[in-house]
Amino acid sequence: MKVYKFGGASVRSAEGIRNIARIVSGVDGNLFIVVSAMGKTTNAMEIVLENFMKADRSASLAKLAEVEEYHIQIINELFKNPASGIDFISPLFNELKQYISQGIGDDYDRWYDRLVSYGEVISTRIVSAYLTESGIGNSWLDMRGLLVTDSNYREANVRMDESEVRINKAANFSEERIYIGQGFIGANIKGDPTTLGREGSDYTAAVVGNLLNAESVTIWKDVPGILNADPRIFENTVHIPELTYLDAVELAYSGAQIIHPKTIKPLENKKIPLYVRPFGSPNEAGSVIKAKTSKAIEVPVLILRKNQVLITVRPRNFSFVLEESLSKAFSIMNKHRLKISMIQSSAISISVCVDNTRYLAGALDELANEFNVNYNENLELLTIRGKNQEIVNQTTSGRNILLSQLTRKSARFLMKEL
Ligand code: ASP
Ligand code: MG
Repeated sequence: MKVYKFGGASVRSAEGIRNIARIVSGVDGNLFIVVSAMGKTTNAMEIVLENFMKADRSASLAKLAEVEEYHIQIINELFKNPASGIDFISPLFNELKQYISQGIGDDYDRWYDRLVSYGEVISTRIVSAYLTESGIGNSWLDMRGLLVTDSNYREANVRMDESEVRINKAANFSEERIYIGQGFIGANIKGDPTTLGREGSDYTAAVVGNLLNAESVTIWKDVPGILNADPRIFENTVHIPELTYLDAVELAYSGAQIIHPKTIKPLENKKIPLYVRPFGSPNEAGSVIKAKTSKAIEVPVLILRKNQVLITVRPRNFSFVLEESLSKAFSIMNKHRLKISMIQSSAISISVCVDNTRYLAGALDELANEFNVNYNENLELLTIRGKNQEIVNQTTSGRNILLSQLTRKSARFLMKEL
């Protein structure tokens, strides 16, 4: 069997969903389809949630009404018989309205998962109903009952053993050839919904591929495949047809937006190839990530990670950092979910570069109990793999560089954002 994943951009319009039907109708064997929320629905649901947490129920419901209207418009454009789509999603919006009207917004992370996860439930209902209407038989699955996770809300980890049993039972391909399930969401053992981290649907596809022993996983994206740089930022980008799992992990870790960093491990463990293919031109090959490639990547790869913060901590008593204070600092950062993208230490200080998230303030606060803390915001981290002096000069000249690191393979520069 194969796994196909369609992201938010692929399902943002009626035309996108028709294209999914075209792509899926070309597959003969067994297929598991993973779908994200439509377009910018997750961002919109975050606003619904923010207002709910502020106890501004009317603003929350008003935003939800926009989300509902957006989905209804797509259904009206897509279906011959729109009622067959609307009948599926109305009860879901009613559940949301009930939560918002009656719930008490106590725990942000938990409410996030409970409310925001509906984006994927709604989108899969629509795609599934449309495939059915188009004569493509399929069975809709609720991943909140199939992917068992821990209770680390908003960044839950999948428990592979429990999930393996459940998903193999639900998607056994005996009566059905095509299953469709949500990316990004699962539930803890008690059944409380969880999410796997923003852009986590790729990770879902990889986990499903692993658990069902897929022959391949394909992520359909609105790009021609994997490029050596983000074409929205850099000129003269080059297509990379083949990458190893290790290349992909390094790119994802450096901040390449193309794949979610957690996606590679479940695939690498079972040597399942990952295809990244252009949704708009399904006949093109795109790129493949696998164990062995026929040649190493020949072009320099550029990755720009925005919205970075440089934190420098110094122990108060002038003790050397490399002793217990090092592990102390890291455990505080880990507890506050800071994602470290670069580390540098000196005799009396440690500097780390992290993503700027809503957890930053809490981390800085706790670090300040133990350390003298300095930090700079609004930075970007440029990683150049396959060092090339000309490109280094082009991309860094005249820039305000706060930290740089050179290794045999790469050059990294932490700079003020332009
Ligand atoms: N809908 C979620 C997000 O926008 C998950 C995903 O698209 O992968 O982050
Ligand atoms: Mg998305």
